[in-house]
Amino acid sequence: MSTHPKIYGVIGNPISHSRSPLIHQTFAQQTGIPLTYSAILAPLDSFAATVDRFRAEGGLGLNVTVPFKHEAFAYCIDRSERALQAGAVNTLIFSQDPQAPARGDNTDGVGLMRDLAYHGIELTDKRILLLGAGGAARGVLGPLIAAHPANILVANRNGGTAKQLIQDFGADLKSQDIVTLCACALTDIPRDEVAFDLIINATSASLSGECPSLPDTVLQGHTIAYDMAYGTAPTVFMDWASARGARAVDGLGMLVEQAAESFYLWQGVYPQTEQVRARLRAELHSS
Ligand code: NDP
Repeated sequence: MSTHPKIYGVIGNPISHSRSPLIHQTFAQQTGIPLTYSAILAPLDSFAATVDRFRAEGGLGLNVTVPFKHEAFAYCIDRSERALQAGAVNTLIFSQDPQAPARGDNTDGVGLMRDLAYHGIELTDKRILLLGAGGAARGVLGPLIAAHPANILVANRNGGTAKQLIQDFGADLKSQDIVTLCACALTDIPRDEVAFDLIINATSASLSGECPSLPDTVLQGHTIAYDMAYGTAPTVFMDWASARGARAVDGLGMLVEQAAESFYLWQGVYPQTEQVRARLRAELHSS
């Protein structure tokens, strides 16, 4: 058996903020699997060429982040059911032969669901507002529907994209999925709606220090405001929600859980996530 470390990475633009290298290196130490894991900045117009180069250099797997999840989907011929449902890929799996077809999967949904469970956030019969209709929103919508909330409103800056998203999923709804699914532009969120139980910010607004513009009526004291983004301080969205009495949670746990699922897909071993959550939280607090 080869003792050379196996080569993995995360690809995105921007990428310098990514904590994925730390997470995967910690999983590797924990499981005793020798691997390298680096952050790869792909030019916006050269995703496929950058991935091809990585594979030619012996790379066996990539995590894919903003804004390449749709391009990663197109890059694969062999896609998991989760990836097909999401129409987006966040995990690429390569064989030793760089010419062989890449396999694409999506671990965002399972990552979010494990983190919501970790925080004791219930979904059954709840009213959910999902902000955003990009790769991350696509990745989590299927598992959210399967958790039997009462309804889900998808609201996006571009309302047409939100409508397209629920249309794609509506066609796949199974008879046991009794959820009501609606979509609109952020600016069209009804102001007279009863407050939501859970608001999930799956926009990338937090990356540029912005908060999607929302009416105050979407939340009350019982609402949980979950931002998929994370950082050294609460995001603007989290501050906005906390200031109105809601409980705010960041996406650090989701990051760790989706990474654990990717690690499992590559290595066949499920790493412990509690230790990595604690380590990452401590690093963020000290930076
Ligand atoms: P995409 O680029 O695919 O989609 C971006 C989405 O954000 C679109 O819906 C876009 O709307 C919306 N958007 C961008 N800027 C703004 C803004 N200023 N105001 C309102 N809406 C905006 O990104 P992803 O879906 O892949 O990622 C979204 C976020 O989720 C990122 O912050 C990412 O870091 C985070 N994420 C976190 C994960 C975790 O594990 N914690 C996992 C996956 C993602 P429009 O369509 O109108 O352009």
